[in-house]
Amino acid sequence: MMVDIHKAALWQAVVECDRKYDGIFYYAVKTTGIFCRPSCPSKPPKRENAVFFFDRDEAVQQGYRACKRCRPDLPLSAYDPQQEVINNAKHIMQLEYHKPWTLQSLSQRLGVSPYHLQRLFKQRVGVSPKQFLKQVRIQQAKLLLIKGEHSNTEICFSVGFTDLSQFYRCFRQATGLSPQAYKRSKTRPRGKAK
Ligand SMILES: [Zn+2]
Repeated sequence: MMVDIHKAALWQAVVECDRKYDGIFYYAVKTTGIFCRPSCPSKPPKRENAVFFFDRDEAVQQGYRACKRCRPDLPLSAYDPQQEVINNAKHIMQLEYHKPWTLQSLSQRLGVSPYHLQRLFKQRVGVSPKQFLKQVRIQQAKLLLIKGEHSNTEICFSVGFTDLSQFYRCFRQATGLSPQAYKRSKTRPRGKAK
C-alpha cells in the first residue's frame, strides 16, 4: 500500500498534468471507471475519487477502462494528448470563428482549464488563442472582400467582430491596409497594376 506522502506527489502530478510522469504511473477515477495518464487534459477528478496504479494492467484487471483522450492503453510515443488539445482548439476556431469565443468558453468546450489552454497554446502555436482567432477572422474577411459581394459592415459582423472600429483596427494591423484599400489592391483590373 502506498504511503500518503507518495500519493500526494502523484496527485500533484495529476493536477499539473505533468508529462514527466507519463508512463510511470496511471490514475483511475472511481466514479467514472476510467483510467488516465498524469498528463491527461481532462479535468482532474476529486482527490478522494482518484486511485493510482504503477501498472496499467492492474488498472484494467480492476475493471477500469482506458481514457479516450489520453489513451493510456497505447504506447507513450504514439500519443500526445496536449497536441490533441491544440489541434481541437484550432479546429474549433477555424470552423466557428464567427462565434463569440472567450478563453473561458473555448476551454470549457475543450474540457481543460483556461490557464492550461492559454499557456499550452502560446507554447505550441506561438500566439494566444485570442490572437489566433483574430488571424482566422481577418483571413475570412480578406476572402469576403475579394469576393466583393458584401459591405465592410456585413463582413465585420459575419466573421465575428463585434464592432466596426475594432475590425478596422485589427485589419490594418494584420495587412497594413484598410479593408477598402485591400479590396482595391485585389480587384484592380489586370494590366493596370502599379
Ligand atoms: Zn485521460
